[in-house]
Amino acid sequence: MSSYERSNIRAMRGYTWGEQPEDPRTIKLNTNENPYPASPAVAAALGALSVEQLRRYPPPLADGFREVAARVHGLPADWFMATNGGDELLRLLITTFLEPGQPLATTAPSYSLYPVLAAVQNCPTLDIPLEDAFELPETFAEQANAAAAGLTCIVNPHAPTGRLFSVAQIDTLANRLDGLLLVDEAYVDFVDPEHAHSTLPLLERHDNLVLLRTLSKGYALAGLRFGYGIAQPSLLEPMITKTRDSYNVDLISQKLAAAALADQDWAQDNWRKVRAERARLANALRRLGCEVPESHSNFLFARMPGHVDAAATKQALQAASILVRHFATRGLSDRLRISIGTPAENDTLLQQLEQLLATDG
Ligand SMILES: *Cc1c(COP(=O)(O)O)cnc(C)c1O
Repeated sequence: MSSYERSNIRAMRGYTWGEQPEDPRTIKLNTNENPYPASPAVAAALGALSVEQLRRYPPPLADGFREVAARVHGLPADWFMATNGGDELLRLLITTFLEPGQPLATTAPSYSLYPVLAAVQNCPTLDIPLEDAFELPETFAEQANAAAAGLTCIVNPHAPTGRLFSVAQIDTLANRLDGLLLVDEAYVDFVDPEHAHSTLPLLERHDNLVLLRTLSKGYALAGLRFGYGIAQPSLLEPMITKTRDSYNVDLISQKLAAAALADQDWAQDNWRKVRAERARLANALRRLGCEVPESHSNFLFARMPGHVDAAATKQALQAASILVRHFATRGLSDRLRISIGTPAENDTLLQQLEQLLATDG
């Protein structure tokens, strides 16, 4: 530890990231990556790149990507901002819009990176607990306003629970909140199309609303580090012109992200397969005695049967080269968050769990 750090950096704790093992045989169901490969158009775009193209700086605003995003989402190109992973957008929102000391509001539980990024800005985090069945409390906006939160972050579909808050709920929140509302839609691609869930139409009505999207989950490109924000241009403007790195997304990721986003047919086919496995895995886990809330994401948040220790189950699965996520948080410690894998991976998980749940206790 260095004595040169700012005092709030010295006092804070860093983010604990999920295990990222190198062994390709590990069944990795712990960090919600896509089990299916990215579009072949991404490999083609990579193959078409030459090192010579890296001699120059990349397009500063990722205009090629923004044009694809505009076409896919049906909004003007200047409503999009490309970032180095969705995580960079979070960092930029906090450093651009939160005064040091001003709270960031979110749900409890939520994405554990928010309080870390807030602490870097010397901002506290107001954790507003979800109610039974992981519902948003009716007074959520009032609680955030009472604390003078400058930024409220809602993961939707929610992580780690998988719950989906409705477009009407988001609309109401954006109306009621005094500060900015970030809807973190890292998992929105996995919502069943029959819900017709789209918050994009809300953007026109709310100058305090930002949507986060990422290529990491839905487009199977977590290694690329590419995300983007969608909001009214006036809201994006200070981040684009002042607070981001001048070339925050490199040429390779701009090209590959554009290729991935343009191939909607491929991506949607993957999402369909993930949803089918999600339903199958949820039912199989319920048959093993787990309580599994409906998930709109590419993971399940399964409560282990009463006689089973979830932390020990996570360790036992790890010994069998299957990684899942356990949160040692009060009220959540009897659950495992399990990313949806391929059918074969899910079968292996189920076989192991069947043995573990039968022998435990
Ligand atoms: C994955 C994820 C993100 C963004 O991740 P990046 O890989 O940085 O794009 C943001 N929020 C949540 C809740 C996530 O799970």
